[in-house]
Amino acid sequence: MSSEQDYVKYMPHNGFDDESATLSEGPPDGRVHDESRTIGPRTNLLNLTPSQALETVAGFLAECGEPAYRARQVLRHLWTKPAGSFDDMTDIPREVRQRLAGQFSIPRLAVDMDVQSSDGTRKFLFRLADGQAIETVAIPDGKRLTLCISSQAGCALQCAFCATGAMGFARNLEAFEIAGQVRELALLDPPLQPTNIVFMGMGEPLMNWKAVDPTLTILNHPDGFGIGARHITVSTVGVLPGILALSKRPEQFRLAISIHAPTDDLRRTLMPVNVKYPLADVIEAARRFDRRVTFEYVLLGGVNDAVEHAMALGRLARGCGAFVNLIPLHPGGTGNFKPSVPASVRSFTTELRRAGVEVAVRKSRGLDIAAACGQLRVERLRRRPPVGAN
Ligand code: SAH
Repeated sequence: MSSEQDYVKYMPHNGFDDESATLSEGPPDGRVHDESRTIGPRTNLLNLTPSQALETVAGFLAECGEPAYRARQVLRHLWTKPAGSFDDMTDIPREVRQRLAGQFSIPRLAVDMDVQSSDGTRKFLFRLADGQAIETVAIPDGKRLTLCISSQAGCALQCAFCATGAMGFARNLEAFEIAGQVRELALLDPPLQPTNIVFMGMGEPLMNWKAVDPTLTILNHPDGFGIGARHITVSTVGVLPGILALSKRPEQFRLAISIHAPTDDLRRTLMPVNVKYPLADVIEAARRFDRRVTFEYVLLGGVNDAVEHAMALGRLARGCGAFVNLIPLHPGGTGNFKPSVPASVRSFTTELRRAGVEVAVRKSRGLDIAAACGQLRVERLRRRPPVGAN
């Protein structure tokens, strides 16, 4: 059976299905689906890839009798040197700016909260046009600045320890809302310019491929943010059609898979999605992925952190040459889990190394600002007085 057929049997059929889970490629012109491009009658340029945006703006400006180079000027202000509005594109004549603003939109995300941790981690809560809130975390580490971005408002997957899962699924983000998180930080004063991007904020990126696909282009393209594909990591619970779609991209985007348990029985209790995408199939997808994959494994005290778990995980990781990232449980998630004690972390790591697996223990960052998946939004909701309270 071809790999494609293998994956096709896992195309949406159960409770995780919704429109968002489909991997349709949109209309035949290859653009992001039509409604999402427009706000009212105007085309949202930030939902287009840089090439599509250039073509669209060039067509309009040619009709207006403007010189061809103006389209490139506009393009530069979308991502490379972002402008907050058409009016801020001051290298373009005012009258042209006004015409552009009548035809196109470049919507902003509103910063609702901006909190800084004592370790330098900075977390943003963005408010979207329909009131949804999403989180973005900026994590400095030496010369690197990693942005952890959200791909959905909420999440349908309900992993037992995750705050986002507990809030449920609200909706998919559009490309302009995913790439817009990076754009907004570039618009700050002083701007935050990331060297690395991880899709480890709220949501499951591979259940929103329709928007994540063009977003990857925007992040990587030289007329977008120009971030190297190897510095962009898509993190997934193991959505097989999505892994296949990612593997078909010619760029070297990185794939991280949240494993969290080395057996189906245990994984099912932590990650209900394992019913739909069982461990063996996820591991097989990792093996077939033509680049090195990272396994993420959150260490839960007394649950998945015994030496036997490490041995089983070691066999799985060895089998597909995966790198293992051990993640300390971030307090403030959900469920009654405890982080692993240091001695367990040490013996777990030693056992994996003994199995010939490369492993890193991630540092917990932003502990004082609720920096783990979904936690800031949860805190924000908690702090709000109930409706009707004085
Ligand atoms: N849905 C994707 C990406 C978002 S979550 C995925 O699951 O991979 C990014 C990572 O953070 C996942 O590995 C997730 O399991 C982990 N995570 C969620 N809550 C956490 C917590 N409280 N402590 C540590 N890691 C957590």
